[in-house]
Amino acid sequence: MATMAQIHWPEGKKAAIMLTYDDGCHSQLENVVPVLNEHGFKGTFFLMGCYLEEKDIPQWREVSRQGHELGNHTIYHACNEAQADTLSGHCRALNCYTVEEMLNEIKIMNAFLSAIDGKEKHSLAYPCGQHKAGGQDYGIPMVEQGIINFARMSDSEEVITSNSSFNPAFVPAFTAFEGYKAEQLTAFIEKVLKQGGAGVILFHGVGGDWISVDAKEHRKMTDFLAAHPEIWVGTFSDVLTYIKQQR
Ligand SMILES: [Zn+2]
Repeated sequence: MATMAQIHWPEGKKAAIMLTYDDGCHSQLENVVPVLNEHGFKGTFFLMGCYLEEKDIPQWREVSRQGHELGNHTIYHACNEAQADTLSGHCRALNCYTVEEMLNEIKIMNAFLSAIDGKEKHSLAYPCGQHKAGGQDYGIPMVEQGIINFARMSDSEEVITSNSSFNPAFVPAFTAFEGYKAEQLTAFIEKVLKQGGAGVILFHGVGGDWISVDAKEHRKMTDFLAAHPEIWVGTFSDVLTYIKQQR
């Protein structure tokens, strides 16, 4: 690791944190977006098609207009554990998919996102952090075929410390589990800052919905970030594009 070139951050920054929010939880619109805007932070919201309703679309379009990123979390959120579609009876578990079917679903979701935010390219968060459809990896072909810019994993404390230490198809992320306290989040941020690297944090609900972190704890974390102007709080795609361009 010692031989790898460190990331050189822009404008006197010393590290970067990517705040990412999954599933399109409504609590994020209420308790996250206004708090990020207060500090000028840009976040990334990975939306899933099956949970989006017509009434949500103007709100997410406005979130994008404010400079935040909308990302792809697939349409049906297929994971290894079967969450069978109770209406159609279709198997929506990852082992029932082929790689081609998964990539097609992701392309359709990309088009849906483009209709909302007008952007040509999107990044993805793997549902449940899992990337094997029918036992075959779909992450590498997805990125190689240019369907997705960068793809986020979960449940990792890994810090990205150089432009050669990360794979765009498998970007690590620290998961904020149910009931996590600000101290647990800031401990990870401090680790990232100490290493001069980049770190991703994954949230679901904030002050509501599921796998929820209390809105007060989330606010303590953003206060901590605001007290550290040497940390770049940018979108998932912006920060990773910057790192990738340093190659
Ligand atoms: Zn999810």
